[in-house]
Amino acid sequence: MTPFLDLPADSGFGLHNLPYGVFSTRAEPPRCGVRIGDHVVDLAVLESHGVVGVAGAGRQPVFNAGSLNRFMALGPDTWHAVRSHLQELLSVEGSPALRESETLRQRAIVPLADVTMHLPAEIGDYTDFYSSRQHATNVGSMFRDPDNALLPNWLHLPVGYHGRASSVVVSGTDVTRPSGQQKPDDDAPPVFGPSKLLDMELELGFFVGPGNALGEPIPMAQAGRHIFGFVLVNDWSARDIQKWEYVPLGPFLGKSFATSISPWVVPAAALAPFRVEGEAQDETAGNPEPLPYLRQAEPRALDLDLAVALETEAMREAGTPPEVVARSNATNLYWSPEQQLVHHTVNGCNARPGDLMASGTISGEAPGSYGSFLELSWRGTRPLDLPGGETRTFLRDGDRVVISGEAVRDGRRVSLGEVSGTIRPTAS
Ligand code: MN
Repeated sequence: MTPFLDLPADSGFGLHNLPYGVFSTRAEPPRCGVRIGDHVVDLAVLESHGVVGVAGAGRQPVFNAGSLNRFMALGPDTWHAVRSHLQELLSVEGSPALRESETLRQRAIVPLADVTMHLPAEIGDYTDFYSSRQHATNVGSMFRDPDNALLPNWLHLPVGYHGRASSVVVSGTDVTRPSGQQKPDDDAPPVFGPSKLLDMELELGFFVGPGNALGEPIPMAQAGRHIFGFVLVNDWSARDIQKWEYVPLGPFLGKSFATSISPWVVPAAALAPFRVEGEAQDETAGNPEPLPYLRQAEPRALDLDLAVALETEAMREAGTPPEVVARSNATNLYWSPEQQLVHHTVNGCNARPGDLMASGTISGEAPGSYGSFLELSWRGTRPLDLPGGETRTFLRDGDRVVISGEAVRDGRRVSLGEVSGTIRPTAS
């Protein structure tokens, strides 16, 4: 397949990707689109012209909407039909309906530079997991016991907590430094003020497609049919607030002030060629075999390169590009998206279209692959050197964090784009 539009060389947004998002222009309100190269194809226009249709959707538009929820709810048979049709419409070899209609091209194809991106979905619920073994080991070593870093449940279930959906924001949204209770001195009462240990977390998230009825778990054999696509997630974390508040019920205000996601949802089908075997979940790798409901036959892991870059205010003023401070890979996740979803619903909890589930911080074994400043600076004891002579342990006001992700294999390149956010001072 060759796209009929001009794409930058080595674009990770070719016909093998075609991620979905919600965009607006100066003239038009938010609606659904698909990205190819540095163009956005307006699916609401294609839908209104009858060029792209969704069987069984009735009279209600699916793409002329401010979120992808309706499309997400329709399930994998519809997703695959629309994706194949879009690949036809956007290729040199395929259907001429768009390619050879100048009127339609002018209406439906928008330069990426002219659009504003919005949250891709109305997120009813957001859940954050803790699925990277190295991250859990690092945190356990720092805060508990290096010899027993993993808690006894960790290898038996995907540990997670219910996050806050209302504060999930799209890439580019500024993040205000939160205030809260902290207890910097073990022998003194708590204090209140702006967080001094503001951090980020490198994560991979997925959107739920069709949900499940309350009381009816999603079995492993069906889990893939409920996963619409993937985004990059920065789960901002205030470590000082978190450390004082989390006992005994877990993360709360140290997490809920903001979570940033990338705007383009990469279809699960686009990442299917990058599935690889994960770490064996049995005695061959010295791991306990999961209980039957969590066992997954097909390759669990995703070979997806991930990077965290930091740009300070001084770097920005000097014109210095963001400095990569960590490189990781999604294969560092022990628990897969399917295992997370199956575990989440095994008690009968209902997932709904547009729910967001994130992996937890993705850290590898090498120190340069840690997915948080907590780990990169080892709890603030090893400052990172930055261009211009600056150092960082945790984030300062004006810092901009950029997470990017891309899968590359056999000449096929699928990008997840990036999620960025700049730290603003505490509101006074
Ligand atoms: Mn997290």
